[in-house]
Amino acid sequence: MVFSQRREKETVKETPQESKIEQEEKPEEKDFTPKEILPGSKSAYDMKLAMNSEGLFSADVKIDITNISNETWSELKLYFIPNMFTANNSPEIEQHSTINIKSIRINNKEMKYTLEKDMVHIPLEEGVTPNKSVTFQVNYQFTLPKTGEKFTEIDGNYYLAHWYPMVPTYRNGWNKQPYFARGESYHTTFSNFKVEYDIPEEYTIVTTGDNSFPNGKKNIIQAKDVKEFYVGLMKKPQVVQRNIKNVNVRVFGINESEKLLEEILVTATDTLTYFYDKIGPYPHNQLDIILDGPGMEYPGVVTVGSTRSGNREIASVKRTVVHEIAHQWFYGLVNNDPYFHAWLDEGITSFATSLFLGDDGANNVRLYNSNTERMPSNLPLNDYGEAPTFIYIYGQSHVKLAEIFTQHGGEQKAEEFFKEYVRLYKYKEVDTAEFVRFMKYYLKVEDDSLFKDWVNYSPLSEA
Ligand SMILES: [Zn+2]
Repeated sequence: MVFSQRREKETVKETPQESKIEQEEKPEEKDFTPKEILPGSKSAYDMKLAMNSEGLFSADVKIDITNISNETWSELKLYFIPNMFTANNSPEIEQHSTINIKSIRINNKEMKYTLEKDMVHIPLEEGVTPNKSVTFQVNYQFTLPKTGEKFTEIDGNYYLAHWYPMVPTYRNGWNKQPYFARGESYHTTFSNFKVEYDIPEEYTIVTTGDNSFPNGKKNIIQAKDVKEFYVGLMKKPQVVQRNIKNVNVRVFGINESEKLLEEILVTATDTLTYFYDKIGPYPHNQLDIILDGPGMEYPGVVTVGSTRSGNREIASVKRTVVHEIAHQWFYGLVNNDPYFHAWLDEGITSFATSLFLGDDGANNVRLYNSNTERMPSNLPLNDYGEAPTFIYIYGQSHVKLAEIFTQHGGEQKAEEFFKEYVRLYKYKEVDTAEFVRFMKYYLKVEDDSLFKDWVNYSPLSEA
């Protein structure tokens, strides 16, 4: 790909005539109306989370769920991912999670329910008609597994991704797909959260919502219009922070060198500045980077591992920092269902990471070239079978997006394209068909030639 050395051309002055052509060619908003994929459900979460000194958590969760689909609901299905790491569901892991649900109530009435794999299922006595709401409440205790990936304890630090029941989208029934460990099989829409916590004194809390450092033992944290609410609890972490673009960027580490923390902070602030300027404003007041756990994005928080784990080199940790921060736009602002259209956040994020770093994403190019079996980038996760999904979801879509912009205006055009994409679709959900429609419009391509050898068309024609 030809994305290196790209910054030179920004300094080249255009002649007035060229600017005029550029302006005339720029698509007008009136030509194109974005069609968002509607969520069908809308939720407001009010949660209490307490942890004792032994690592036992108690949660009290209340969710007001509104039916914004045009069907009547006869049941509720919620994700409950902590249950995937119990002795029953993950006998192979070292220290499994325990879950003890005390009660589930709907509109204050205790209900019968089933908890199977990553789902709580509650048949409703009375249907919920369109525009009506129900109040779901659950009271439960849990402990964390030691190798639960994103929901895990690491050396006395607790990382709580998807620790509470999460409401799926509703499309001809609840859009609750089977759990899939290699990827994100859960999909939610934008919601408001209020979380009241009570934790041991020596822990620092790092969350999706804004909080001060050092924090109090007890407090209430809120977050608006986010897909999920992450909580990290770290025992006496190191912290470095800097304010940039009115965003407080903080890096949290455990037993890291001062030099590494500072370097990561520079990478994080440079990344934030680039995406802020080129793609659009960052949607939170804080951006927290946790140097522990797997590389993963959450609203306002990213985890990126550290050089201590798995002998990783600094360059690899930095690349993960850039990738996970880029997700704040492609996942955090523009939503997509990661079970059916994972490439939309992972492929675009991988490509955007290379745009910022000014490289061709050698790893993804290698992945793509190593692959002998051609499969589309937009299959549902389970349809890849045993095939390594990352080849198609990360590698192939990154390489193909780079090829498209090599033919259509280069990296500057790519930045403009994604800026417009985020402007049109922020706080909305996009699927593959809608992305293809927007790209063909923006690049003025009539046929499907840009996508023919890597996007599956059968779901597109139904859409
Ligand atoms: Zn990613």
